[in-house]
Amino acid sequence: MSNDIPKIVVVGGGAGGLELVTKLGKKLGKKGKAQVTLVDSTHTHIWKPLLHEVAAGTLDSHEDEIEYLSQANCSGFRFRLGRMDGLDRENKQISVAPTINQEGLEIIPRRKFDYDYLIISVGSISHDFGIKGVRDHCLFLDTTKQAETFQNKLLQAYLRAHTQGKPLDEGQLNIAIVGAGATGIELSAQLHEVSHLLTAYGLDEVKPQDVKISIIEAANRVLPGLPENLSAATEDELRKLGVDVMTNERVVEVTDAEIKTESGKTIPAAIKVWAAGIKAPEFLKDIDGLETNWMNQLVVRQTLQSTLDDNIYAIGDCCACKWQGHDENVPPRAQAAHQMASLVYKSIINRMNDKEVPEYEYHDYGSLVSLGRYSTVGNLMGNLSRGSMMIEGFMARLMYLSLYKMHQVALFGPFRVVMLSLSHLFRRSVHPKIKLH
Ligand SMILES: Cc1cc2nc3c(=O)[nH]c(=O)nc-3n(C[C@H](O)[C@H](O)[C@H](O)COP(=O)(O)OP(=O)(O)OC[C@H]3O[C@@H](n4cnc5c(N)ncnc54)[C@H](O)[C@@H]3O)c2cc1C
Repeated sequence: MSNDIPKIVVVGGGAGGLELVTKLGKKLGKKGKAQVTLVDSTHTHIWKPLLHEVAAGTLDSHEDEIEYLSQANCSGFRFRLGRMDGLDRENKQISVAPTINQEGLEIIPRRKFDYDYLIISVGSISHDFGIKGVRDHCLFLDTTKQAETFQNKLLQAYLRAHTQGKPLDEGQLNIAIVGAGATGIELSAQLHEVSHLLTAYGLDEVKPQDVKISIIEAANRVLPGLPENLSAATEDELRKLGVDVMTNERVVEVTDAEIKTESGKTIPAAIKVWAAGIKAPEFLKDIDGLETNWMNQLVVRQTLQSTLDDNIYAIGDCCACKWQGHDENVPPRAQAAHQMASLVYKSIINRMNDKEVPEYEYHDYGSLVSLGRYSTVGNLMGNLSRGSMMIEGFMARLMYLSLYKMHQVALFGPFRVVMLSLSHLFRRSVHPKIKLH
């Protein structure tokens, strides 16, 4: 071990990384038993499953953001701003790219951080599969900034349509979402709600029915990763809302004005969103000889240690971990990132006490998909039965909200979460239901 106390570096303060670094900071950092450091390329954390609400404008990102410096201060870890772009396993160092401000000035130089234990939890980004035009013409929902860009674009399109004094051009207010996973589905329902709210808030030259929302999916059903009854119920709800659901349609090209599919369809849309698959960030692809897969994910053993280096762990969306008893890997979900963070916490404590490292087993508690104020649908995996049980409505909504509450409890403890929830309720009672600028 270098120097006196071990150096633990967590890269990426997302759903998994921030929970892990908070626990390690409280247990080890505060007591001086280890130096715990979080490195993230942004100043703040937002729970990614909220991003579609930021994009639709039903959530102001500033309301739910957590400042890393403040979290570090209360939890006993250090925060260092920067984007990891390299690894030197021999010298046990990571390198972090310089931070450049909006004027192009370097405000933080390139730095290196030593580690004894390194945990990589840098999440994932959208995968465009090399399809022509996607990068240039689609919006993505990988970061808060991208979600805010979407919201600005939507508002501008509305304002233009409201004031132009002539009928809408073809596709002018069409929104096409590629990918009918949870992100695409949840976004479409939120947008439907927003189209009604914006008219109600005075942009009434545009009628809700002027906004045409389409979802384009290559698989033969929406939510292809979830049970079929859930897909059917969700598709039914979406059709009732007037969302145009197109399945078995593989996108082959995106242009400024439309989306083209393999079957020859063209879907005119001014706003196009890509939510059709993920990959881990590019810098992981050839990272000092560690094993990665076709999605750039770091391949890990059941202990979540990388296959070639015991001191490097990977958790969350950026790791490829075998799902025991299944032919696939653990899916990229917030609940998996949360469980993995708990396991790596135990693993490091055990290693510091010369005990065995535990092995990870993914527990799938089911999935919930929010259709905004209209409905929530989901499946719960039973402990007693081997199958899953479908739930809908109020109970599903409560369980959906509890996922986020569990994340908040891991970060702040139960008392502060009650206070936060109350202040959120009060704020909501005086602010408009959507962000209007
Ligand atoms: C719109 C949307 C809706 C979703 N809905 C759900 C849902 O309902 N249920 C569910 O279970 N899952 C959902 N997910 C998936 C879920 O958000 C992810 O599985 C989860 O956030 C993964 O956690 P993570 O810790 O691996 O990474 P993330 O939470 O993505 O965090 C990654 C962190 O790493 C940082 N980072 C990235 N690269 C670097 C670098 N090079 N150096 C330093 N820092 C870096 C980022 O800034 C970020 O803070 C949704 C995702 C999206 C986008």
